[in-house]
Amino acid sequence: MIVANWKMNGSKEEVDSWIRFVSSNILINKEIPCVFCPPSCYLDFSNTLIKKISSPVKLGSQNINHSNNSALTGGINSQMLKDFSTDYVLIGHSEQRDYLNEDKESLQYKIADASFKNISPIFCIGEPKNIKDQDQTKNYLRSQLEILDSFDSDQITIAYEPIWAIGTGENADKIYIEEIHSFIKEFCSQELNFKQKVSVVYGGSVKLRNCEDILSCKEVDGLLIGGASLDSDTFSKIYNLS
Ligand code: PEP
Repeated sequence: MIVANWKMNGSKEEVDSWIRFVSSNILINKEIPCVFCPPSCYLDFSNTLIKKISSPVKLGSQNINHSNNSALTGGINSQMLKDFSTDYVLIGHSEQRDYLNEDKESLQYKIADASFKNISPIFCIGEPKNIKDQDQTKNYLRSQLEILDSFDSDQITIAYEPIWAIGTGENADKIYIEEIHSFIKEFCSQELNFKQKVSVVYGGSVKLRNCEDILSCKEVDGLLIGGASLDSDTFSKIYNLS
């Protein structure tokens, strides 16, 4: 899976030209979904365009809220996402964990609610720099992964995004990525009893110059791309190298 996370960037015009460009420039491989996560306000427009031009691009939401039909100003729920034919949703992105104070219970509810509506959760985990420096990454990730104990590998994709690598231009190196991805997969199958190996994608300063190196790492099943996904040509090239 190759995911474009636009965060709070872009305009309707840019969404339009990105979807058209990517749709006609990627060599789609059905085994590797190409997922576009625009800001929520462009989900409806994106969905209409994707259908109109029979685009292979799949739609993902950057957020989902944890209650249906409630007094939550600015909220967006799973039923609304279904109305836009949203297939994927990012849950637990570090920026959301930080700004919205997301706790374990609400993350668990979001994953369950999305899965129930057949929207595939992309569950983001990752450690801050001080945790890495103290050699505590695995303990930190363990506590983030524990909330998945009632789910299974076919319901979820995990995005490993070291926080110190997000938007910094400093991606994790190959050895580190391989070690952590292997740890995540082992933990999910041994401690959480996932029936099969869970899919783990890497995110954090993925660029055209480093994507092949990262994709060649053992246990890397795809990429979650922020900044570099904004450029349709760069993103299409990264997809085509996957
Ligand atoms: C992200 O937003 O999830 C991300 C990985 O951003 P960037 O690629 O810009 O580091």
